[in-house]
Amino acid sequence: MLTVEEALARCMTLQIPRRTEHVPLHAALHRVLAEDVAAAHTLPHWDNAAMDGYAIRFADCSASLTDAPQAGCDNTDAALPPAVAVLTVTETIAAGTVGARTIGPGQAARIMTGAPVPVGADTVVMRENTAVTDERVTIHGMPREGQHIRYAGEEARPGAPLLSAGDTLTPGKLGLLAAQGHATAHVVARPRVGIISTGDEVRAPGEDLQPGQIWSSNTAALIGLIIEAGAEPIDCGIAPDTLEGTRDTFLRAIDTGCDLLVSTGGVSVGDFDVVKDAMGSLGAEMLFWKVRAKPGKPLALGQIGGVPTFGLPGNPVSCMVNFLQFVRPVLRRAMGDPRPFLPVLRATIDAPFRKRHGRAEFVRVRLRVQDGRLRATPTGNQSSGWITSMAHGDALLIVGIESTGVDAGDEVWVQPMHASPALMTAEPAYPW
Ligand code: AMP
Ligand code: MG
Repeated sequence: MLTVEEALARCMTLQIPRRTEHVPLHAALHRVLAEDVAAAHTLPHWDNAAMDGYAIRFADCSASLTDAPQAGCDNTDAALPPAVAVLTVTETIAAGTVGARTIGPGQAARIMTGAPVPVGADTVVMRENTAVTDERVTIHGMPREGQHIRYAGEEARPGAPLLSAGDTLTPGKLGLLAAQGHATAHVVARPRVGIISTGDEVRAPGEDLQPGQIWSSNTAALIGLIIEAGAEPIDCGIAPDTLEGTRDTFLRAIDTGCDLLVSTGGVSVGDFDVVKDAMGSLGAEMLFWKVRAKPGKPLALGQIGGVPTFGLPGNPVSCMVNFLQFVRPVLRRAMGDPRPFLPVLRATIDAPFRKRHGRAEFVRVRLRVQDGRLRATPTGNQSSGWITSMAHGDALLIVGIESTGVDAGDEVWVQPMHASPALMTAEPAYPW
């Protein structure tokens, strides 16, 4: 039986065709960029004021100035530093306008944040350090030459690399694209992931249940996981527990043109577990079956007509844990994400957990931040049938094959189930 890393390594050999598309920026959050983006425009476009105040010539300032006018000025702050210049105000430059006059010796322009610095000026003094009487402005405190100016091109010059193919678009990256005038982003198309539930007992939520039947929680959970992974779910329905019926459902799913297929249930050793046989009857080339993991031991991976197909376990927890470990990184890599793996972080566990040696275990835990550190609390019953443990879990405590458990207060390894792009990793981060 394969270990988790061995199984993952085989999963990562899967290939999914990559398509790209252009989407409006408002729809591009968390999408994966399809190409490098270089600056097309100087950023900022021109020298502009970083403060509301006055654009002046530094050479007009003198530390020995003593005859500053005080009476009747607009700023009576007693703590103002000594005056260094008294200048004539020529005009007011609002953001969105361009000054009409060159600033000559002894002159200043009143200027607003973001407005272009007028010709002749080389320094901006913030309004709080000035006092105005009639058409004259007194500058208080020796400025630094060139201060409070955001210079043209200091963020980027045309041709400078800004973003890379494979970047996940965060709000900041969307802002940068917009600042360069892009209305759309060229992103990787979401891989289409078909979902098949199997089981004679399984019904869609909303349908009436007969004795012995349950509603499919796996379909809804997988839809969420697939969307969170950045892919597009396609619900391909529920297959009955017959070879013929399962085979037909798989065929119909492949016919939707999906890039990857996941099924749940029917992949264990029960009398009606026909998923592997159905995959076999469709000529699937099998990559593995069964992983040394709890939950999630029965996991089949094959390719049906070139479409990677994961036979996930039916138990709700096993199904989700296996998706996170194996399917999610495959999808992220397929999208060109250079960091497709969920991180594994240090946390303090506040309850003991015992396990048997021989299988890696994934324990659902709640995470809390306390004094800036992570604390993890198991969500209670760890049965693979308890969907509530997934509903209340934030992360998976990962306990290695050889370990026999952890004690309260131990430093442990936890894998958040929802991670920000900043925390993702380039390599699998299993701690053993
Ligand atoms: P199986 O692997 O088909 O024997 O299923 C294992 C367990 O998971 C059984 O208790 C099934 O009823 C349950 N199960 C299978 N499919 C689903 C599903 N789509 N939603 C919720 N539970 C399921
Ligand atoms: Mg079943």
